[in-house]
Amino acid sequence: MILERLKAIAAPILNFFIPPFCAVCGKRDKGWPSTPICDSCWSTFLSDDMGGRMPVPDRSYSFSRFRARFLMSEEFQKAVHALKYKKMPSIGRKMGWELGAFISIDYWSNMDAIVAVPLHHTRMRDRSYNQAEMIALGLSESTGLFILKKAIKRIRDTGTQTSLDKQMRYSNVEGAFLADPAKVKGKRILLVDDVVTTGSTTDECAKALLKAGALEVRVVSAARA
Ligand SMILES: [Zn+2]
Repeated sequence: MILERLKAIAAPILNFFIPPFCAVCGKRDKGWPSTPICDSCWSTFLSDDMGGRMPVPDRSYSFSRFRARFLMSEEFQKAVHALKYKKMPSIGRKMGWELGAFISIDYWSNMDAIVAVPLHHTRMRDRSYNQAEMIALGLSESTGLFILKKAIKRIRDTGTQTSLDKQMRYSNVEGAFLADPAKVKGKRILLVDDVVTTGSTTDECAKALLKAGALEVRVVSAARA
């Protein structure tokens, strides 16, 4: 605890004299703000220009609406990689702040709580935090909505979806989530993820939340692929 506090106090001083490397371009950045990504790299992230279009337009989803802040790009992929595998949770928090500022008030103001797409407990143990929870934290700070913790769990390790085709992604996550009725019943939920591709994972989460009694689920993602 004391060590953590000392680290927090010392970090800005250390960063001034020995600027850390940007997680995207790898250069040392003196203007290091709260996130280990330099401003010029952050500015290359492309804004999502698809309005509220669903991840796959002709598919029906259990969630009612979808918004993403960024479009997947090579630079953004590096940022997500650093967030997931290099223990840089502040990247997720900043994504959450930007997401909160980006989505319109009518999108979230009548929602009751934020829920992050969960990791399976074995992955959680390896990574020590859930990247979607870090994005949820930033979104909560920016909107004032509280986070419902442990409202949903991944009861099956579904592995990575990246090598699977569209149809396999849907069947791979089927029945992978279980939501807690005591936490979600009667609530309108803002479901948060880092990257949404086909929407199969978020859709399965939304199904579990609705099954447990949630009234509505809307999805917000840092990026769409
Ligand atoms: Zn950079």
